[in-house]
Amino acid sequence: MPLSQPDYDAIIIGSGFGGSVVARSLVLAGYRVLQLERGGWVSRGPHNWDSGATVEISLFYSLESPYRVLSGGHQKAMGAVWAVGGASVFYGAVSLRFRERDFHPDAAITGDSGARWPYDYAELEPYYTRAEAILGVAGEAGADPTEPQRSSDYPGRLNSLSPVSEMIGKAAQEMGLSPFRLPLAINYDDRERAECIGCNTCDTFACAIEAKNDVAAHVLPALIHRGLELRDNVVVTRLSESQGRITAVECCDRRTGDRFRKTARLVVLSAGALGSAHLLLASDLTRLNPGGHTIGRYLMRHCSAIAFGYFRNLPNGGSDFHKQLGIHDLYFGHPSVKKPTGKLGSIQQVQTPPVGLVRARLPRPLGRLLSPAVQRATGLLVMAEDQPRYENRLTVDRGRPDRFGLPQLVIRFRPVTAGAIVGRGGRCWWRRKRSFEEPAPPSATSTESAPSPTHWARYEWGTTPVSQRSIPTAGSVGCRTCSSSTGVSCRQPPA
Ligand SMILES: Cc1cc2nc3c(=O)[nH]c(=O)nc-3n(C[C@H](O)[C@H](O)[C@H](O)COP(=O)(O)OP(=O)(O)OC[C@H]3O[C@@H](n4cnc5c(N)ncnc54)[C@H](O)[C@@H]3O)c2cc1C
Ligand code: SF4
Repeated sequence: MPLSQPDYDAIIIGSGFGGSVVARSLVLAGYRVLQLERGGWVSRGPHNWDSGATVEISLFYSLESPYRVLSGGHQKAMGAVWAVGGASVFYGAVSLRFRERDFHPDAAITGDSGARWPYDYAELEPYYTRAEAILGVAGEAGADPTEPQRSSDYPGRLNSLSPVSEMIGKAAQEMGLSPFRLPLAINYDDRERAECIGCNTCDTFACAIEAKNDVAAHVLPALIHRGLELRDNVVVTRLSESQGRITAVECCDRRTGDRFRKTARLVVLSAGALGSAHLLLASDLTRLNPGGHTIGRYLMRHCSAIAFGYFRNLPNGGSDFHKQLGIHDLYFGHPSVKKPTGKLGSIQQVQTPPVGLVRARLPRPLGRLLSPAVQRATGLLVMAEDQPRYENRLTVDRGRPDRFGLPQLVIRFRPVTAGAIVGRGGRCWWRRKRSFEEPAPPSATSTESAPSPTHWARYEWGTTPVSQRSIPTAGSVGCRTCSSSTGVSCRQPPA
């Protein structure tokens, strides 16, 4: 007897980078594709420039089905970014490739997990090239000392540096470092559509004019035109298995509460780092695979620290985009840092923290008092990754389902300390150079250390903003890497 025809060739769960690039390949190959997305479309217009439109206090950071944080978080409950396009809509557009050595086994990175890549950089290089073309990444090859081999140049050209970035770049060069232009998935040179105007609400905001090449603006509309069926505001609640394959998905419409089931020959789970594990655990699929006990384990997050320099006058008049430079001289480690050995990660410019978030997250009088000050800050983000650990994990609590029937996701996390060391390295570097010159107007003075707004800084668990960790400022502590009380005797990065 012939089996009944499935509803679709493929169902894709999630519409972030992962789901949308898969959708692109399948739609272009002629597949009938249904894409299911829990969030809604993010509307674009001048309202995206409001400081309150930053993702964490926007409607698209949802606490509708809160995750329960048992350990390792700042809050006991956390939400997630649910939107068509996923986190890509709000992300910082920095589009770096891994370096060749990132694919080599390194116990300092993987800990005792035994994790290793099943391929090397050379095998992935053509796919990086394709991804950069799809996302329209603008960049300048050749300045980053750790840059991996490329088979072609970046598809897009970058704009010029803002005055703040010029200052950071000059200061870094004087220290013998090699600042380079961060590759950005932003449109600067395609006159057929809106070009970037360099506003100060890019990282953590949706782009009002769709010049940031997120997948909702830049990839999905053309696919819908070619037949992709994208259903937003639909929560997938269960994956149904038959004879060892996922053949159907159970769904609930967020707006109407209607429940339905769809079948497909192929089901692609691309619901983000937490969302994908959540669905696998909720669907009780761990029993089907000998490695099932690892689902939800080895949870990792960024180990980040941010140092802010504070200006008496607004950097760039407080308006220009200035996440433009990266510094990778310490990426593979540095002789001055004895522990941890090995890689220390990336240093990147960060934007001024959104005033709306500062006001929303700090106790009331403090938030109002400090928010004008943070507009005068410019920062450097020091970013590494935590080690994968078996005990850092997600589980589900079936006794606490949400209104769609998904059991509550529970998070247990304990960081490895290496990230803190990386952060210290960054603070030393920043302090060394905190007296770089500001350009006109003449009343401008040297930068000063300010109370570090890292309390609001974004740390990531997979794709979702979660916890905040206060770190002391460069001005308020000595450098614990070298025990200097002033930081000025820190050993220098290589000339
Ligand atoms: C503010 C911010 C800035 C960032 N900046 C950068 C940067 O500059 N450079 C960089 O490389 N990375 C950056 N990142 C990280 C990067 O954006 C993410 O790693 C990436 O977008 C993850 O893509 P994804 O497809 O795996 O997941 P997501 O983007 O999370 O997409 C998963 C989608 O699945 C949906 N979903 C989840 N569960 C269900 C369900 N049960 N049913 C239906 N749909 C579901 C979600 O709503 C979501 O839209 C940033 C992240 C944030 C939040
Ligand atoms: S800086 Fe450019 S790409 Fe980013 S939000 Fe502003 S206009 Fe859009």
